[in-house]
Amino acid sequence: MLISLEGKRALVTGGNSGIGEAIVDALSEAGAKVGINYVVHPETAKKIVTRIRGKRGEALALQADVTDPGAVAAMFGRMDEAWGGIDILVNNAGIDGGRALSWEADGGAWRKVIEVNLMGAFYCAQQALKRMISQKSGVVLSISSVHEIIAWSGYSAYTASKAAVGMMTKSLAQEAAPYGVRVLAVGPGAIKTPINRSVWSDPAGLKDLLSKIPLNRMGEAEEISRMVVVLVSDVASYVTGRTIYVDGGMTDYPDFARGG
Ligand code: NAD
Repeated sequence: MLISLEGKRALVTGGNSGIGEAIVDALSEAGAKVGINYVVHPETAKKIVTRIRGKRGEALALQADVTDPGAVAAMFGRMDEAWGGIDILVNNAGIDGGRALSWEADGGAWRKVIEVNLMGAFYCAQQALKRMISQKSGVVLSISSVHEIIAWSGYSAYTASKAAVGMMTKSLAQEAAPYGVRVLAVGPGAIKTPINRSVWSDPAGLKDLLSKIPLNRMGEAEEISRMVVVLVSDVASYVTGRTIYVDGGMTDYPDFARGG
């Protein structure tokens, strides 16, 4: 089966690093024009644009902090000017906020995680849906996490934000379905990227992590980006309102492989 996103206009938030960069490349390889949102490191965003244009693809680097609704609206305005709108939004920008037990956590740091992971995803989804509802087509896909459903001590803001993204996804999917617009999420397990460098660069941390993954390895960003391409394409035309986990079995409660 050939998947083509030829002519589709896509935007990936936090597209200049880790999973976002892999999604940008995969969408582009499938034929989409890709807007690469970034908040820091403009040089990496520009390098990706150059790489894509070198392969005769179309790409734009779009600076915006997703927690700023004005900046988000302006970014969608630039998509309108360049390509006349949007067909695919990937809400990928996210932070984990660092580890802190709730009674020791800084309220501002907790709020920042919610602002980036939840409010940022909402502001972008709102702008995308305004356009998709009127054109009666489009897909909004958010990168959630296995921590949408797995608790994680020390990361209460992160788990709360991802659980909220899951329920927001379901509600937006109900709103958008009558217009032929799909809204869904992908929940990655442990994928080797800068966000979790402290875990995979420490042998003891890595050993503990692998014990939680039935496939006994971390995932690659490309294993997320391939699933994203499938889900935003017409191959998945009947899939909406769900989080699809891409996690090597992490949400399968691996401890039960040894009795219970
Ligand atoms: P990453 O740190 O490489 O990427 C995060 C991106 O978000 C960066 O480009 C960063 O600059 C951007 N970002 C942060 N704040 C922003 C803001 N205010 N506005 C715009 N962009 C902003 O990490 P990653 O692992 O590639 O994470 C991507 C997504 O995948 C995140 O939503 C993360 O929660 C999710 N995720 C990652 C894993 C994993 O194991 N790596 C697992 C589950 C979920």
